[in-house]
Amino acid sequence: MEKSPDLEHPIKAYGYAARDTSGTLSPLTFSRRTTRDKDVRFRVLYCGICHTDIHFVKDELGMSSYPFIPGHEIVGVVTEVGREVEKIKIGDKVGVGFLVGSCNLCEMCANENEQYCAKLVMTSGSPNFDGTYTYGGYSDHMVCEEHFVLRWPDNLPLDSGAPLLCAGITSYAPLKKFGLDKPGMKVGVVGLGGVGHVAVKMAKAFGLEVTVFSTSPAKKQEALEVLKADNFINSRDEEQMQVVMDTLDGVIDTVSVNHAITPLLNVLKPNGKLIVVGLPEKSFEVSAAPLVSGGKIVAGSMIGGLKDTQEMLDFAAKHGVTADIEIIPIDYVNTAMDRILKSDVRYRFVIDVANSLSASLSS
Ligand code: NAP
Ligand code: ZN
Ligand code: ZN
Repeated sequence: MEKSPDLEHPIKAYGYAARDTSGTLSPLTFSRRTTRDKDVRFRVLYCGICHTDIHFVKDELGMSSYPFIPGHEIVGVVTEVGREVEKIKIGDKVGVGFLVGSCNLCEMCANENEQYCAKLVMTSGSPNFDGTYTYGGYSDHMVCEEHFVLRWPDNLPLDSGAPLLCAGITSYAPLKKFGLDKPGMKVGVVGLGGVGHVAVKMAKAFGLEVTVFSTSPAKKQEALEVLKADNFINSRDEEQMQVVMDTLDGVIDTVSVNHAITPLLNVLKPNGKLIVVGLPEKSFEVSAAPLVSGGKIVAGSMIGGLKDTQEMLDFAAKHGVTADIEIIPIDYVNTAMDRILKSDVRYRFVIDVANSLSASLSS
């Protein structure tokens, strides 16, 4: 018989979990493994709330297990290391993103594309190699193999840097992989949310000309003045969309809900690339004509491998790229998720786990 989450492992842990598809989170006592030879254990300080956490707590992608502890933008301070850990020591600041395990044998793992390993172990709600399920960063501490732990650059803030572990790599990796990182290139970012606003900052750090496509005209001034985007298009306004027809080298689509893709193909130059990173529940339709006649590419991209993620953190530290955040206590998480669904956050919630989790459990 399966053991309950608090008895699976020897070490007690606390977190906030969803118990069913309502997605409502509440405190949970569970357990984590002892520190193995290659493991790093760390106390969680901050954890960002990504829209993917919402998809998962509500099982919108059809792959969630309950209880589900979300959180894959996790930063903390190391409390214990296994005997074979080489680069990380007690007291170091570290981060963990969307993955905590992979097979280490396949072609994807060999090419540092661990995120596409068929045996990928996600940070939350994934069967681990010992048969137990993983629990994410809305919790007091984490333990995982050193390979999946990022070294935190000295000058990168812990709180506003935490979202880079997902939102940062999700925008950095496709810009590089699809050759959209050459200064002067023109890219669009669709959806100015957690991932989108970091994508704008990453693209600017690469020296690109950035056009934001948004359904929220209220975000225009901030996008241009604070995020330093070059253009802002209300994607629901056909006249504005016409103005940018055939002008962009690439578009990163971060929208979390169903929406039309063909208008985004139309803003690409011939040979332009539409990179989908958002995860709407339903399939979208792509019209063949603009795709074929313009030699355009529609591609997808998921986070990035560990090497690229470390490179991204170092790049962000060098160029001063962080997320714009609202820091919250953990017992605000359900309200925060409701607000994300209304696009009512500028632009990422980050949970102050260290200062609010124990207080929330004892109250
Ligand atoms: P988010 O903060 O909620 O941002 C999503 C944005 O989509 C909103 O801010 C909004 O921007 C836009 N939007 C919302 N409703 C819309 C509608 N009805 N029509 C058009 N646009 C709409 O979410 P996030 O954390 O950035 O994540 C975005 C998506 O990417 C999610 O599906 C998430 O699961 C996925 N994701 C994927 C990866 C990956 O590795 N591929 C990584 C992280 C997240 P405007 O107000 O500007 O329109
Ligand atoms: Zn994410
Ligand atoms: Zn593999």
